[in-house]
Amino acid sequence: MSDPKKKSLDTLAVHGGEPRRHPYAALAAPIVQTATFTFSSTAELLSFLQGELPDAEEYGRYGNPSVRLVEEKIASLEAVDDGLAFGSGMAAVTTSILALVKSGSHVILFRDCYRRTRQFVRDVLGRFGVTHSIVESVSEMESALRAETRLVICEAPTNPFQRVVDLARVAEICRAKRVKTLVDSTFATPINLRPADLGIDLVVHSATKYLAGHNDVLGGVVCGSRGLVSLIRDLRHCIGGIMDPHAAYLVHRGIKTLAIRVARQNESALALARFLEADDRIKVVHYPGLPSHSSYEVASRLMSGFGGVVTFEVNASQEETSRFVDACKIPRIGPSLGGVESLIEQPALMSYYGMPREEREALGMVGGLVRYAVGIEDAQELIADTEAALARLR
Ligand SMILES: *Cc1c(COP(=O)(O)O)cnc(C)c1O
Repeated sequence: MSDPKKKSLDTLAVHGGEPRRHPYAALAAPIVQTATFTFSSTAELLSFLQGELPDAEEYGRYGNPSVRLVEEKIASLEAVDDGLAFGSGMAAVTTSILALVKSGSHVILFRDCYRRTRQFVRDVLGRFGVTHSIVESVSEMESALRAETRLVICEAPTNPFQRVVDLARVAEICRAKRVKTLVDSTFATPINLRPADLGIDLVVHSATKYLAGHNDVLGGVVCGSRGLVSLIRDLRHCIGGIMDPHAAYLVHRGIKTLAIRVARQNESALALARFLEADDRIKVVHYPGLPSHSSYEVASRLMSGFGGVVTFEVNASQEETSRFVDACKIPRIGPSLGGVESLIEQPALMSYYGMPREEREALGMVGGLVRYAVGIEDAQELIADTEAALARLR
């Protein structure tokens, strides 16, 4: 028998972090479209300032009830104390990192990660005297730890090669050295992976992707312990990257269907990955749900699903691969992932277009590489569409 007090992720996605009734007994969450909040008297203001009115707000850059609902829902799904919502995933990533480092700190970053996160750590933090090491594995991470190391940053699964490092090991090693850990869990979602359960301190998501899920809004969240979240909140007050109330409404509404969307995307992506792997026009498929993937064992142990993104390399030139991409009728060509619509792209022509060829290829972004972000369309139709497009290759 399941513990009736312990709700499943399906139920938490719908109800988690919400009051039994919203104002006016509305079932849907209200959009509190205001920049400022008022007090009925100086006495009320003083009680607020003394922390006696925890649900009250003062000014929109510090907090908003619509935004608060997103923060409480993500905290409930990740099973942590508290969360914070931002205007974009990168606002969440950068504000969280900045809150934890100072001049002289050292940061460790796993190589396969979101390009802008790498750019921020390398180029921006570098200007303020924060040093970093880029590592490929947990053992390299362990050797890179120094007395000044404050933070280890990784993604699970990584973009686009979908590697999954053993987060439990990362957390264990870092805890022993009092180094904080931050995982960008955008690709996994709390439905497939809960990094905090494995001992990770902070979990970040680009809410633009699976959480909101409809390719119609930008957002980001971070969540973790009360103490760490409060440090980041103080910095968000200064930097000002809070989520907008309208965006918060869309993200909150999106999360209601997160569990069923992700379950569907897990299933369809696995079917597509298996189909591609069996096709001899495909050189390699990077999907952690395939036994051939280097992270299959770790991913099977840590994750309850393998996600909706399938990366693969077509056995063809960049130009021929573009012909295949153009011949796919269902997915649209575009960056991003995690929405209801399938999207397809060649990383060499999208996120990495501006990078010199040798540098790009050293990162594995070769011309034949394709990232397919599966939506919620019918899986058999997605596969038939892919098969027809592959037939256009010589
Ligand atoms: C998209 C993405 C981001 C950035 O999020 P935005 O909402 O676009 O700012 C960060 N990390 C990962 C893994 C992403 O996919």
